[in-house]
Amino acid sequence: MKKVPMKAALFITAFFAFMGHFSLITKEEAPPVQKQEFRKITGKIKKGETLFDIFKKYKLDIIELYKIREASANIHRLRELYPGRPYKIVLDKNAQINSFIYGIDDDCFLNINRTDKGFRAEKVSIHHEKRILHIGGTIKDNLIASMEEGNGNLLLALQLSDIFAWDIDFTTDLRNNDSFKIVVEGLYLDGRFKKYGDILASEFSNNGDIYRAYAFKQNGKIDYYDKTGKSLRKSFLKSPLSFRRISSGFSRGRYHPILKIRRPHQGLDYAAATGTPVSAAGDGTVVFAGRRGQYGNLIIIRHRKGYKTYYGHLSKIGKGVRNGVQVDQGRVIGYVGATGLATGPHLHYEMRIDNRPVNPISLKIPRGAAISETMLIAFRQFTDQMNSELTSVKPSNHIAERNATRRRSQKDG
Ligand SMILES: [Zn+2]
Repeated sequence: MKKVPMKAALFITAFFAFMGHFSLITKEEAPPVQKQEFRKITGKIKKGETLFDIFKKYKLDIIELYKIREASANIHRLRELYPGRPYKIVLDKNAQINSFIYGIDDDCFLNINRTDKGFRAEKVSIHHEKRILHIGGTIKDNLIASMEEGNGNLLLALQLSDIFAWDIDFTTDLRNNDSFKIVVEGLYLDGRFKKYGDILASEFSNNGDIYRAYAFKQNGKIDYYDKTGKSLRKSFLKSPLSFRRISSGFSRGRYHPILKIRRPHQGLDYAAATGTPVSAAGDGTVVFAGRRGQYGNLIIIRHRKGYKTYYGHLSKIGKGVRNGVQVDQGRVIGYVGATGLATGPHLHYEMRIDNRPVNPISLKIPRGAAISETMLIAFRQFTDQMNSELTSVKPSNHIAERNATRRRSQKDG
C-alpha cells in the first residue's frame, strides 16, 4: 500500500481528538496589581521544612502564616510541604505578604493573594506546551540500558513495557539488536522540556516480530490498540513477573538482567532473586494459597473458561491472598522464593486448561475488546498519521523533536 503524504489538518483533528482527555486548563487570572516596593523570597522546600520554619527564617509575620493556612485549607493543605517543591513569597513595602505561591506538583500550583477581604487561595493548572517527540533505540543488554539517561527515560521505558506486557516479556524475550520506536508527547514549560506525557504510538521489533501500539481514547479511557483496532490487552500477561515491578528502584547503571527462563517440565521456571514480586497473570479467583509438597508455598488461581495458573516455590504469599479471594490481572500475589523442592530461588509457573498442562508461551490468547465501529474512522486517521510519524523515527538512540504541531497548522492552514 502506498503511503499517503501527511495532511496537517487531518492530523490536527485526530491529534486534538486524542488530546481531549487532558484535564481542563484553568485560565490564570490577572495577577493583582503589585505595589511599587516589594521583596521576593524564592526557594525550594528542604527536607522536613515547614512553612513555620520558612516564616521564622525570613522573620515574617506568624499571624499571616495562620491566615494563609486558613485561606488555603479547603484547596490545598499547607501542613505538609514536599521537599524540592518551589515556593515564592512576595512582600509589600510594609513587609506584609502580598502573595504566596507553592508548586503542588508538575501540573499545578497554589496561588494565594492578599485581597481587600483577606487572603484568597486558588489552585492553578500549569499549561504545558505539548510537542511530539520521536525516540528510537536498539536493544543492548536490556531495555533500560538501551534508553538514554535522564529526562524521565526510565519511566518511559516502563510505560513502554506496560503497553506490550501481553506480548513481550521484557525480562526474558529481548534480544540484542531488537529495536523500538516511540512517538510520545513532550510537555514543555517556557520552552524547556519538563516531562513525557503519554506514548501516542510505538513499534517494537522483537526477535523478528514487529508489534505496533496506538493510543486511543474510548469510553473516556486511553488504551492501546493494534493496527486493526483490537486492544493489546489479553486475558493473560506474557509473564507473571512484571518488568515494571522488577525494574522500579533500579537505576540505569545498576540494572542487570536477572531473569532466566527454563522449561524442564510441565511449566516454566523463572530464575529471579528471592523477594521479586509475582503478579497474577490474569483476573481470577484464588482456589489455593498455602504449602503443597514439592511446590512449597503455592498459589493457584482459577480463571474463566477452565484456565488455572500455578505459582510455586514462593518465599511469601501476598497479604490478603487466600482461598476464595478475587484477584485482578497484575496484582502482586506473592514473592519469589525457594520453598519446596527447589535448588535456588525461582518462580515455578504453570498454566492448565481443564487441568491439562499447557505451555503458556506458545498458547494463542485472544485479544481484548476492539475499537467500536463508530470510532473506527477516527482511529484509522490516527493510525495513518502515527504510521508516518513512526516511519520517520530514526533508530538512533536520541530524541528528535518533530516540528511543533501548532506552528505547522498555521503554516499549512
Ligand atoms: Zn518448576
